[in-house]
Amino acid sequence: MDYNAAIEASLQRLHDEGRYRTFIDIERRKGHFPHAVWTRPDGSQKEITVWCGNDYLGMGQHPAVLAAMHEALDATGAGSGGTRNISGTTVWHKRLEAELADLHGKAAALVFTSAYIANDATLSTLRTIFPGLIIYSDALNHASMIEGVRRGNGEKRIFRHNDVAHLRELLAKDDPAAPKLIAFESIYSMDGDFGPIKEICDLAEEFGALTYLDEVHAVGMYGPRGAGVAERDGQMHRLDIINGTLAKAYGVFGGYIAASAKLVDAVRSYAPGFIFTTSLPPAVAAGAAASVRFLKGEGGQTLREAHQTQARVLKSRLKAMGLPIIDHGTHIVPVHVGDPIHCKMLSDMLLEDHGIYVQPINYPTVPRGTERLRFTPSPVHGPGEIDRLVRAMDRLWSHCALNRAEAVA
Ligand SMILES: *Cc1c(COP(=O)(O)O)cnc(C)c1O
Repeated sequence: MDYNAAIEASLQRLHDEGRYRTFIDIERRKGHFPHAVWTRPDGSQKEITVWCGNDYLGMGQHPAVLAAMHEALDATGAGSGGTRNISGTTVWHKRLEAELADLHGKAAALVFTSAYIANDATLSTLRTIFPGLIIYSDALNHASMIEGVRRGNGEKRIFRHNDVAHLRELLAKDDPAAPKLIAFESIYSMDGDFGPIKEICDLAEEFGALTYLDEVHAVGMYGPRGAGVAERDGQMHRLDIINGTLAKAYGVFGGYIAASAKLVDAVRSYAPGFIFTTSLPPAVAAGAAASVRFLKGEGGQTLREAHQTQARVLKSRLKAMGLPIIDHGTHIVPVHVGDPIHCKMLSDMLLEDHGIYVQPINYPTVPRGTERLRFTPSPVHGPGEIDRLVRAMDRLWSHCALNRAEAVA
């Protein structure tokens, strides 16, 4: 075997299919988000505005979060020094889990290295806890849920995206006595559309299924205390397991599930992805807890309102120019380009000529023909930044002779 040739061939395939990913090196400037410095491959630098970040509320630079992290760092040092099982459970982990359980109105919560690991580890472990479990999974679920559903080798059914009638059909076909779980998201991040939480909970009740909701793109941002869309819609108590991240709106790092005390105890006891890995650094847990706590309060409500306002302003201004916005009423603003070459070109020109950083979203992240630029406005994007973005998009859209058409949503 010529190993080097195989490596090169695998990379060449990605280049040939236009799927090779290039990363943009940025250094965010604390206190000046969304401003950052971009270092080009040749080492030269440029001031840019980040328009595709997931630090949706700017909590990554919030004084309360940074103070909590400094305090824990100074009190206890850098790493946790162990897995949760062997010396790595600290007062900071316990406090964070209590904060999260309270957030979702559940008896318990369990913190993982990331929401990716939380999804993968929990979903695959549920098959151990409930032998014969059938998992019903939305077709557009995140890669981390797909992995978790796939591993463990149990039965799975994929229902068409947000298609409750299709889900009902699939549920009705299976043995009424079989254990079942429906896995879905509250906000799908590429189109920015909501999942039908109430309707799915109704079906779960009717068919005796458990519900598993990924609220990664909603926690911190929706609901009176920032617990997500299920909280906003009064459905939170109907969900058996809620998954969230501490790395997006909470601005720090880590992921979790919230559920009943028994279920959390079982996942804690069986999930290899929880057991056999070092726990979060205490400073990270402390920062995340401070962020969750802050966003539960009035300050959080103010940020959530500002966030929604920014999204509405950006959407209406882009729409006013006839740009094809995909608008489902969430904070995510995807602009449909529909072609990978143009999508990459627009992104390159925005960055180089206008200092605006938005990553092109191409296949396989989204289906071919639906390539897009996905903007994530936040309360830290001022009117000046929105103005510059809108004017740059207007100019580039004309420059590339792209259609000013109806939105595809
Ligand atoms: C980003 C994302 C995750 C993973 O969250 P991390 O904490 O970054 O690992 C899980 N689910 C969805 C829907 C996501 O977009």
